[in-house]
Amino acid sequence: MASQVTVYLGLGSNMGDRAGNLKKALELLSQRMEVGEISSVYETEPVGVGEQPRYLNMVCRVTTGLTPQGLLLVAKGIEQRMGRTGNSFLPRPIDIDILLYGGQVIETPDLTVPHPRMTERAFVLAPFAEIAPGQAHPKSGKTIKELLGGLGEVKGVFKVGRIESLTKQAKK
Ligand code: AMP
Repeated sequence: MASQVTVYLGLGSNMGDRAGNLKKALELLSQRMEVGEISSVYETEPVGVGEQPRYLNMVCRVTTGLTPQGLLLVAKGIEQRMGRTGNSFLPRPIDIDILLYGGQVIETPDLTVPHPRMTERAFVLAPFAEIAPGQAHPKSGKTIKELLGGLGEVKGVFKVGRIESLTKQAKK
């Protein structure tokens, strides 16, 4: 069996049934890997994508024997299956980012890990700090909690609850 790696994924949705989309993506991920701890869901102002509806974001820990490229293919496959177009500047039912892959630093044309913008994004660091505050960022050596603290006052990121209760409410 391939050796198992601990990976952190960032999930976001700003189109359609956003909480339902996060839940569906977690289900599809769990068919291909072991999904461990998941953060609360945060409602967040879009950053760097122009005028768009608010996102729901969360971070999860997974364990996988997939290579980084294999994991990227699985993530892209789920995005496509859930109806995502290729355009990063349009609203999307689901966006899956590979934040950390073990302690590895990967720089290839289609994959950069640690995710290059995670250190400046409160919508990633706030949910990440909830499940892994002491996790070190392999490039800066800082912990997730330290990186979040370094952003100063967090604006535009609001914790809204656990995915289970959000999706239950949505069904009523
Ligand atoms: P975006 O629209 O911002 O989700 O960017 C999607 C593209 O970013 C994908 O086609 C990937 O090849 C590329 N990419 C580079 N690094 C990463 C990463 N760490 N996680 C996910 N996608 C990545």
